[in-house]
Amino acid sequence: MSGSFAMHGRHTTPYRLPSRTNDGRVRLVSCSAPSQSPDQTILPTEAVSADSPHITLEELQRLTDEVPVMLACYDVRTRRCLYANAHYANLGGLTPEQAVGKTFAEIIGTEAAERIQPAVDRVLNEKVTVNYSRSFVTPKGHARWIEVSLIPSGTPEIDRTFVMISDISKHRRAELENRQSSERLRKFMAASLEGIAFHVDGVITDVNPPLLQMLGYGTDDMVGHRTLEFVPLHEQARVRQVIGSGAEVSYESYALHKDGRELPVEYCVRDFDWDGKKQRLIVVRDISERRAAEERIRFLALHDSLTGLPNRAQLDERLNYLVGSAHEHDAQFAVLFIDLDQLKRVNDSLGHSFGDVLLSSVAERLLEFCEGAASTHGKPWLARLGGDEFVIVLPHGDRKSSEAFSRTLQATLQSPVEANGRKIRVTASIGVAMFPQDGDTPSQLLKNADAAMYMAKAAGRDTTRFFDQSIAHAADRALLIEGELDHALQNDEFELYYQPEVSADGKRLLGVEALIRWQHKERGLLGPDEFIPIAEGLHLIQPIGQWVLDNALAQVPRWRQLGWEDARVSVNLSSNQFRAPGFTDNVLRSLARLGLSGDRLELEVTERMLMNDDAAMPVTLATLREAGIALAIDDFGTGFSSLSRLRTLPIEKLKIDQSFILELPDSLSSVAIVNAILELAQGLSLTAVAEGVETKEQRQCLESLGCRAMQGYLFARPMPASDFAIWLKDLLGPSSGTTQA
Ligand code: C2E
Ligand code: CA
Ligand code: CA
Repeated sequence: MSGSFAMHGRHTTPYRLPSRTNDGRVRLVSCSAPSQSPDQTILPTEAVSADSPHITLEELQRLTDEVPVMLACYDVRTRRCLYANAHYANLGGLTPEQAVGKTFAEIIGTEAAERIQPAVDRVLNEKVTVNYSRSFVTPKGHARWIEVSLIPSGTPEIDRTFVMISDISKHRRAELENRQSSERLRKFMAASLEGIAFHVDGVITDVNPPLLQMLGYGTDDMVGHRTLEFVPLHEQARVRQVIGSGAEVSYESYALHKDGRELPVEYCVRDFDWDGKKQRLIVVRDISERRAAEERIRFLALHDSLTGLPNRAQLDERLNYLVGSAHEHDAQFAVLFIDLDQLKRVNDSLGHSFGDVLLSSVAERLLEFCEGAASTHGKPWLARLGGDEFVIVLPHGDRKSSEAFSRTLQATLQSPVEANGRKIRVTASIGVAMFPQDGDTPSQLLKNADAAMYMAKAAGRDTTRFFDQSIAHAADRALLIEGELDHALQNDEFELYYQPEVSADGKRLLGVEALIRWQHKERGLLGPDEFIPIAEGLHLIQPIGQWVLDNALAQVPRWRQLGWEDARVSVNLSSNQFRAPGFTDNVLRSLARLGLSGDRLELEVTERMLMNDDAAMPVTLATLREAGIALAIDDFGTGFSSLSRLRTLPIEKLKIDQSFILELPDSLSSVAIVNAILELAQGLSLTAVAEGVETKEQRQCLESLGCRAMQGYLFARPMPASDFAIWLKDLLGPSSGTTQA
């Protein structure tokens, strides 16, 4: 399309406008002639040949009506509309025809007309195109944004102005939304506890403060740098691969802190459109704590919580591995089962927390020893099984080297171990089993090393035993006992022996202690040490204890008949029995069944059983006391009872442990201890009984120290009820009816 249009006016300079031809078509023509009348808007100024392409005004109108822009032309002087397309006319709710001839104010409203007056003035005064944008609210209440261009026209004087208006509401809204979401994102990034970074093609474009803090950098240290600079070398290949793949993934890796530390992190990578640009969003989560927790859990699962040494689970793992590799290489190794000789005693006397401190010290000593003992036979490996049991594995140990190792270990333990400022000498009983001759599975090896350890204990402790067939027999015996104990009660195989407590001259009977025996069909008479600990382990101690109580009490009426008016029997309790719910009820019921008052019974307990911080303990003791039942502390002196606590307990008697009596009169320290216990007993108005008096010298020494009550082979051995009855008759004689306690 070519040619010029002239818009009607007084201008003579040609300008281009659509022009209506005589036949009603419109074409673009250069206009130069002033118009005849303002109403005749467009006039051709140039002849157009008949075959030239023409555009009619209607066509132009239709075209401009289709353009998504509002178009109009105003006469500057009259402010009246010379031309309007449909969109523009619609502003004032008019058709283009209606709009033509209307004033500015009539079409867009007075208020709007006033508002844009400054822009119109600028166009007229400065003769320049003025652009501005403004918002307005439609009569229907919709907010709209428009961009307006006022284009001056006319020479030399400007007599018209074109108005071109674009509705930019949609654009504006999108822009606003974008700005808001950017704002939101920025706020989110700042508020997030997790590190966030954006990168484009591996170059960081933005980071949030938490990430800077996590990695110890400032914004400038990161933005503009490559992401890989913040990833340790060994992880770069993986990270590069993720960046390259463009995948949206989460994975655990490491980030590099400014100080060189490698932080365990989780990267969560997503695609993200921001400001129209495709970015990669990385959420960086610090998982050091999670990792630490996982490591801690794994550590706990494989280590003993008290000593931090490898535990049973890890020992099994290690033994399994060793068995496998020793099989393969035709090698051997040794398993040393170590049991501390004193721990039970320390626990009983000084309490469990002290025992724990001691265990830790011993564990340290053992570990030090193992670490120093690495040799051609490999590095000894130490684990704690629990309680006072440790295991050392000598990876390539043969019998000779294991023997030497065990001997030096025992020598090392000679120097006392310190626990809570106290120096305690600890000895160990050690049992050794060798792979493959003593077992080719971890459990077989452990079982046999354990059995050998028992033999070391039986041989007087503080010694080492290697597993052999005789030990296998003895171990089987313990197993057999376990199996038979269950039936012993039903088969009535238990029996009570009675051992009197007497005055120093042996002439007065002060009490009698019931001691259990097991009359075994094949093995003969078994002492309590052989089966009571097993019974405790099998939870058989309560029915057995009840049996002892009932049978011991049943003797009391008989003894009274024999003339022992104040007859009273002492019964030993085990700690599980004492702590069992319903214990006192059972005792009271036993007494009631036989019609006996509580003062016919004395219960022997250990210091440790009383020191137990069991909440039910005070109630138990008070109930026993109320019923008139006496309490005696057995094996006294092996513990260090809190004396202030002793004072508050309803106790009548201290039985001085036989280990002190055994060393009388030669051991000065035993003399001192016995003396101190006697003084203590006197101070607390308690009876003190010396246990295990075997010799006249012992009795003499005790007498000289002021001990009035004694028990031991010197006076009487424990004996069956029938023998005790004879002994009792002998003591009381035909004449005496009563013996005072
Ligand atoms: P215990 O209560 O300290 O009992 C004293 C132990 O010393 C008894 O061993 C007794 O036979 C022994 N004995 C007595 N006089 C002498 C002596 O002059 N020299 C030596 N060397 N020993 C002497 P027994 O009967 O083997 O009992 C061992 C432990 O078994 C008892 O120590 C007691 O703690 C426990 N026990 C015994 N009967 C029962 C019971 O019915 N129930 C519970 N739970 N434990 C019991
Ligand atoms: Ca006892
Ligand atoms: Ca005792």
